Amino acid sequence: MSTAQIEATALMCRLLDQADTRINGKALFEGPWAPAAQSLLRERLLRFAGDLPSATCYDCWVELARVVDDPPKSTTLGDDQVLQMCPECGPVVAPAYIRKTYQPAAEQLITHLVIGLGLMPQGVRVIQPGVVWRLGTTQPRPGQLHTWYFARTLHELVVAQALREHLQGEGVLQDAMILTTSETPLPAFSPLAGAQVRSLPAVGRLGQSTFEFLDNRLKTGGAQVVAAEERAHTNTLRYTASEGLVYWQGQAIRLTRQQKAILVALIDSRDHELGRDALRAATGSKDEKFSPSKTFQRIPEVYHGFIHYDDDEERYALKISDEDAHWLK
Ligand SMILES: [Zn+2]
Repeated sequence: MSTAQIEATALMCRLLDQADTRINGKALFEGPWAPAAQSLLRERLLRFAGDLPSATCYDCWVELARVVDDPPKSTTLGDDQVLQMCPECGPVVAPAYIRKTYQPAAEQLITHLVIGLGLMPQGVRVIQPGVVWRLGTTQPRPGQLHTWYFARTLHELVVAQALREHLQGEGVLQDAMILTTSETPLPAFSPLAGAQVRSLPAVGRLGQSTFEFLDNRLKTGGAQVVAAEERAHTNTLRYTASEGLVYWQGQAIRLTRQQKAILVALIDSRDHELGRDALRAATGSKDEKFSPSKTFQRIPEVYHGFIHYDDDEERYALKISDEDAHWLK
């Protein structure tokens, strides 16, 4: 891993973790951050955000000196230089960057993250404008889902609280993988203290047009799961393990703990088929009269829609919908 990449990642996080992300060119291009800033500019992770009419005088470092927009022809200026007019020092030639401001490009970082995770860019959703994004969902193994989020300024309690409420509403608080520019672990008093939150420098570094995750276990490689808005009209068990719900004819149906346990046991079993005793053991039930059809008696359509019971063999098998065919093999 190169030092430049580590520094670029650190600088990007530092800039994005402030409420106001604009920064002056002088702070960027003078001093130890300069190589990192150059590298961010090359990757378009840092963008020009406008010229300032004046900047601290480059000679005395005290006065605020106006930048002359139309310098006299007698002054020889390089392309990367400007003329300042200081009330104390008079005309001063300064590097052009002293009047320029820059801003980190969060959308560009998100594209890098999405590529790094192997997700589809069109799956990205804004959760809190300019602050929190949902990157997509991956499936590390059957029955397990990770929903990826990226949040800046997560150290702010109000941001963490709003994200927590969003995750709870979606039923993914436990399965969400939250990447952030803030330092982790978050303090114990953070609303997201118990969630899976990782700071970007801890999990990888910016690479060329991508974010390189250090630990491949973090990346899941699994196929991307469709976004919530695209779930309509489907019959799927995809969200059973992660969110405790199934979609039956486009309707989200929340499962009880025991209903979920039965479906997850069948999802996780080889061939998605189990005898009655094995199924009972897999769900941790001690009930002598263990009966899946009874467990599902309030939602018989889900039971008959997803489970086939072979009376002779006393075996339960999943009925796999078209939508699930490619991951429930
Ligand atoms: Zn001066």
